[in-house]
Amino acid sequence: MPSLFGEAPGRIEGETLKQIQDNLGECTRCKLHRGRTHIVFGEGNPKAQLVFVGEAPGADEDAQGRPFVGRAGQLLTKWIEGPLGMKRGDVYICNVLKCRPPGNRTPEKDEVDTCSPFLIRQLDAIRPKLICCLGAVALQELLGKPVSIGRLRGQFFDWRGMKMFATFHPAYLLRNPHADAEVQLDLRKMRQFLAD
Ligand code: URA
Repeated sequence: MPSLFGEAPGRIEGETLKQIQDNLGECTRCKLHRGRTHIVFGEGNPKAQLVFVGEAPGADEDAQGRPFVGRAGQLLTKWIEGPLGMKRGDVYICNVLKCRPPGNRTPEKDEVDTCSPFLIRQLDAIRPKLICCLGAVALQELLGKPVSIGRLRGQFFDWRGMKMFATFHPAYLLRNPHADAEVQLDLRKMRQFLAD
C-alpha cells in the first residue's frame, strides 16, 4: 500500500467540494477513465459531521454516478438510518477511487496514488467530526500502511487533526453476515462519539 501520509497534499484553506470536483473534471489521469460510464465524486452534506469512505464505485454506482447505491449501499443506508439514527442526506459518502475498476477488482497502486489526493482534499474541505473507513482499502490508504481491518476496526485514530474510525465494508457483511454483531458494536461506538 502506498504511504499517502507523507505525500498528502497540504490543506488548501477554504477549498470547496465544488472546486475540487471542477479540478477533477472529466479526469483522464489514470487508466480507469477508459472503462467508466460516470465519475463517482461523492455526495451528501458538505458540512457533514460524519463522512464514509468506501473503496471504489461498483457497477450500479458507475451507471448512476452516485456512491453506494447498489446492494452494499442499501445496507450502508440501513446502518445510517437505523443504528446511527441519522438520514443518508446528513452524512457525506465517497470512495478512495472515483472510477470503477474493471470487474470490481482491487484498486491498483497507480490508481490509488493518482486518485486519493482528491479524497484527502474532500476530507479537508468537509473537516467532519468523524471519518469512517469502510473496509481495508480505505483504512490502509488513510493510515498509509498495510493493516488488518479485522484487528483495527472499532478503534479511533487521529488523522490530519480529525478523528478516524473503521468498520467492515458493507459488501463484506453481505458475504459474511456473522460479522454483523461487530458492526453493530462499531455503529454504537460511532453514535456515542458523535453525540459527545
Ligand atoms: N462499494 C464501494 O466501496 N463504494 C461504492 O460506492 C459502492 C460499493
